Amino acid sequence: MRVDVLTLFPEMFEGVFGTSILGKAQTKGLVSLNAVNFRNYATNKHNTVDDTPYGGGGGMVLKPDPIFAAVEDVLEKRSKESAASSKPPRIILMCPQGETFTQKKAEELVQEDHLIFICGHYEGYDERIREFLVTDELSIGDYVLTGGELPAMVAIDSVARLIPGVLGNETSAVTDSFSTGLLEYPHYTRPPEFRGMKVPDVLLSGHHLNIDAWRREQSLIRTLERRPDMLDTAELTEKERIWLDKLRSEMERTSE
Ligand code: SAM
Repeated sequence: MRVDVLTLFPEMFEGVFGTSILGKAQTKGLVSLNAVNFRNYATNKHNTVDDTPYGGGGGMVLKPDPIFAAVEDVLEKRSKESAASSKPPRIILMCPQGETFTQKKAEELVQEDHLIFICGHYEGYDERIREFLVTDELSIGDYVLTGGELPAMVAIDSVARLIPGVLGNETSAVTDSFSTGLLEYPHYTRPPEFRGMKVPDVLLSGHHLNIDAWRREQSLIRTLERRPDMLDTAELTEKERIWLDKLRSEMERTSE
């Protein structure tokens, strides 16, 4: 997979792209992550990429021309480098008004060969970027940040870790919260007892069937306690649904 991020602050990506799991993934050739400064595509004397809004009001608006030119250049370079991929890239605008980014979206985006992220700043973008250039608009939540760089990093990290081979044995995406439709079960490691706090016996038993059953149960309890909304769409057996209903009633009774 190739990922290009269009930003005014490419230096912000150096640490994130070069460190830990993402850094290793690039060394292994599993993903190529590139930050492109779209100021380089400004055509005016002072290299400005923003301007005052038509109609007045505060804040500066990102002009369409540098962003269109940067995307077109990335596409042209990509077509020269790899004739292999005929799949058009996803061009993703980071903005608080976009679709909320989820694990499901990460699972969808990891199927692509090429992602282009556009990071905004200031008041926002010229609307023509939204209407005529991008394929997706993504928000990382209902709050407003100063720029799209942190949101793009969040999305890229979450997509890249799903590329086969990116996570080593030390981490697994399969049992992660949200991947299974449930929150993940609790984890413990050595020592078996710390300041009188004990690891549940079942985890020390070596009995894998019992361990799996305990983990599933804990996942269900955790999801019921913290994110009951997820249970509406989670894949559950009839037995689990009945058990959860009982548990829910007990919880309601004790909270009264
Ligand atoms: N005026 C815009 C609005 O009300 O929708 C907010 C602009 S914000 C200050 C500047 C940039 O930060 C946005 O263009 C976007 O790229 C990024 N941004 C801020 N919050 C975001 C969020 N929750 N998700 C994704 N991007 C965000």
